[in-house]
Amino acid sequence: MPPRTGERSVTDIWEGGCLCGAVRFRAQGSPKWTLWCHCHSCRKHSGAPASAFAAFDEALVEMTQGQITKFASSPGVLRGFCATCGSTLTCQGDRTPGELHFHIGAFDHPEDLPPTAAFYAEERLPWVHLGQPD
Ligand SMILES: [Zn+2]
Ligand SMILES: [Zn+2]
Repeated sequence: MPPRTGERSVTDIWEGGCLCGAVRFRAQGSPKWTLWCHCHSCRKHSGAPASAFAAFDEALVEMTQGQITKFASSPGVLRGFCATCGSTLTCQGDRTPGELHFHIGAFDHPEDLPPTAAFYAEERLPWVHLGQPD
């Protein structure tokens, strides 16, 4: 069945990669969720005042170029980036086994992945106003 207007089908392909192109990936299916994360750790990892994530089934993610380098930012949490250009790419944790959380800005079409919720809203910087949800 073809995708309906304004709605993604489960056969969707989401491609993305880092700034330099050394790392490219492809995720399939609908994202499990999309959200803003206002936590301190995401802020430090990305350098951005807030991070937007889309969660995909890790089994449906394939690398099409290079590999994501991963750093254990705290016990059970891995943060992924490009070892060449430093682009912030992923976050994954033992609390959400089987999920890979991509920074939405890493996708080729982030405009199709609007965040629908906010995580760690209590750590949001007071001058960050993202509209609803925030
Ligand atoms: Zn790169
Ligand atoms: Zn976070």
